[in-house]
Amino acid sequence: MSILEIVEFPANVLKEDAKPIEGLNSEIEKLARDMVHTMYHAPGSGLAANQVGVTKQLFVADISSEDDEDKEASAIIIVNPKIVEMSEETITMAEGCLSVPDFSADVERAAWVKVIGKNMAGEDIEVTADGWLARVFQHEIDHLNGTLYLDHIGRMKRQRYIKKRKKYLNSLKD
Ligand SMILES: [Zn+2]
Repeated sequence: MSILEIVEFPANVLKEDAKPIEGLNSEIEKLARDMVHTMYHAPGSGLAANQVGVTKQLFVADISSEDDEDKEASAIIIVNPKIVEMSEETITMAEGCLSVPDFSADVERAAWVKVIGKNMAGEDIEVTADGWLARVFQHEIDHLNGTLYLDHIGRMKRQRYIKKRKKYLNSLKD
């Protein structure tokens, strides 16, 4: 398994719509496994394919519990995920992103979501998530639609981050 390079803001690929995956093959399987490996290495609670530069509808998330010995084996992988139902109740909580370094901000999200998609065996799955996982699912599915959590926060806060980030990226050029 390889650790993939995580694409960081403001890379264009993070704004692209990921394309549906037509058929599962060994290439997709390897991508998913590498993404799981990369997520735990980072570490993060979820990773979408655009974050490793691949515009395909696929994300992985950590659903392991404290006493899981092999966390990577228990990660959830969802192909062509779609939110089909969500709660009206929302929760606002601080969130971060592996593609948005050195930042976190409060984001309002549905308290629970029902997601359909396919697993790596190509079977239809339906998962209802609440708590932190519901937030992760919404965050990762946003990625696949070219949306970052920065798009959900106040304009001033977003502009401040973009300015800081540009300054940092420019400092690397000197
Ligand atoms: Zn993210």
